[in-house]
Amino acid sequence: MRYFYAQTNGGYNKTHEAVEDHNRIDSFELPDSGGLMFCGRKTIDAVREFRCDGEWVRLYYPPGGPRMSPEINRRPDGLYETILLSGKRNGYGGRQIFFICPCCGRRVRYLYLKAGFRCRECAKLNYRSSQRTRGEYDAYDRGKKYVHQHLDILWNPDLLDFPYAIPERPRWMHWNVYSKHIKKLEQFQRQFERRQLLGAVSLCKKFGINIPEEYWR
Ligand SMILES: [Zn+2]
Repeated sequence: MRYFYAQTNGGYNKTHEAVEDHNRIDSFELPDSGGLMFCGRKTIDAVREFRCDGEWVRLYYPPGGPRMSPEINRRPDGLYETILLSGKRNGYGGRQIFFICPCCGRRVRYLYLKAGFRCRECAKLNYRSSQRTRGEYDAYDRGKKYVHQHLDILWNPDLLDFPYAIPERPRWMHWNVYSKHIKKLEQFQRQFERRQLLGAVSLCKKFGINIPEEYWR
């Protein structure tokens, strides 16, 4: 159920597409010694380096860079990332080059530019920012379940409408009882909003923007 909402709400889908379409580099397109390669619609400089500890490529961030995470700002140069490469024979006498994801060490063909170059899995994890969404959906699911049990079995507000949606009073129900249920629902709704707010704050922090505590504590 939770997964279904994630899909129709557009949130996950959008980030997913953004990762897939716009910020990807392909190890099969790596220039032999160095040169330009595509990263989504932009081009970036790639410089191959052969060292005693392996084959590397220095990937320069496109103009505007990735949205900088504090992690990247702390790098001495802040302009490029050096990625380890891995060559693999393809069975036709050739050799194909793959990236080693700097985050998880997996051998991958594509890296996605988020806060740095990462494999698809790691880029996605970064974006979802830990348990943020789980907490939100949790309050949503529990609030809905509560209404289903006590007020309206068919109540099904959109994720975006949830914080302010109010189910109707069943005709047979006393006003006092109804308002007690609505108050209970409000707790889930405020919890939902709180989770969203904290999620936004921590996302900003990842991109180097600090929201002063007095705005969210
Ligand atoms: Zn990875």
